[in-house]
Amino acid sequence: MGKLNVTVLRYLTKEDFRVLTAIEMGMKNHELVPGPLAAAIANLKTGGVHKLLKELCKHKLVAYERGKKYDGYRLTNTGYDYLALKSLTLRGSVSSFGNQIGIGKESNIYVVADEEGTPICLKLHRLGRTCFRNVKSKRDYHGRRHKTSWLYLSRISATREFAYMSALYDRGFPVPKPIDFNRHCVLMELVNGWPMTQVHELLDPAQVYDDLMNLIVRLGNSGVIHGDFNEFNLMVTDAGKPILIDFPQMMSTAHENAEFFFERDVTCVREMFRRKFGFESQDYPKFSDLVRDDNLDAEVHCTGYGFTKEMEQDLLLEYGMIERTEADHTEDTVVDDVPTLVPATAIEIDEYRKQVETEVCYSETKSTQKSDDAIRRYIE
Ligand code: ADP
Ligand code: MG
Repeated sequence: MGKLNVTVLRYLTKEDFRVLTAIEMGMKNHELVPGPLAAAIANLKTGGVHKLLKELCKHKLVAYERGKKYDGYRLTNTGYDYLALKSLTLRGSVSSFGNQIGIGKESNIYVVADEEGTPICLKLHRLGRTCFRNVKSKRDYHGRRHKTSWLYLSRISATREFAYMSALYDRGFPVPKPIDFNRHCVLMELVNGWPMTQVHELLDPAQVYDDLMNLIVRLGNSGVIHGDFNEFNLMVTDAGKPILIDFPQMMSTAHENAEFFFERDVTCVREMFRRKFGFESQDYPKFSDLVRDDNLDAEVHCTGYGFTKEMEQDLLLEYGMIERTEADHTEDTVVDDVPTLVPATAIEIDEYRKQVETEVCYSETKSTQKSDDAIRRYIE
């Protein structure tokens, strides 16, 4: 674990940024973006996209790969990180970077600082990182979008986490304060406490046990289940108060698997207390005890982050919260281990060009120098 690897970015020019953004756009429906398509989307007046792409490859922001049917470029983790961090620094949400403080199942966690120098927490979601050659392609019926694409999954995971965290925080639940998000990155308050995994003694285990069970019930009454309520996703403050983190896998109590996950969360707490603190209690909540008093689940879907039911299905599938349907299985038999070149229509290229233009314009109206400095600046 070390510092966020953004040092290579200091020499990135406006043109580099434009080309990198073009690759991101191209990846919306191509596993590998062919050079000519990248050039068409980037639409550089002076040309020379090929040379810029070579440079981006050298800095490992994009990678060039040979497919069976065609060759092309794909964004790397570093490239995607850069695009998100650039946006967050342009907005002034982040102004310097620090060390990695955690590694989760599906993320990397860093300390960064805002413009006042206050340390905050940056979570980079990393889902679906399997090499595409080992993954059977699962395309939707348009055959255009990869449900297994790490870009897509990581982005919707962060979006969903931010939406849940905001709704929970607004209602006074003990969760970190959400600050901002972009692509696969979430910025939130840095919790001043200990991860439960490192806590081996509690002053008042019965009280913390009650706090946790009450939290599960309060969530349930609001219409949601955390779904991964274990010692990796709980932190404890010095005052012994639990704080809940890690929300992308949350689900509605109206979901058909809700009871199973509610009970699993409850069992997790009981077993953790028995194992870690030698504490047992016959007092624990049941799903049937829940009395709905809020619609947090519905609100999350209306927050306007463009989160569709289909995205939710894809994400819960990735988190192993739901089973694949028959339809998914049949799709699986259509094994296609090479990326298919879906021809980009002129309209599509036009649309992507416009989006690249918007990104580039935004970055130019903002103080790019300030953002570049921020990306370079480390908290010592
Ligand atoms: P994952 O989804 O990959 O499991 P988590 O959100 O659980 O990621 O975070 C992984 C680890 O990072 C946590 O166990 C915790 O130690 C640390 N962490 C996460 N969020 C925060 C935060 N807001 N403040 C302090 N530490 C955090
Ligand atoms: Mg976790």
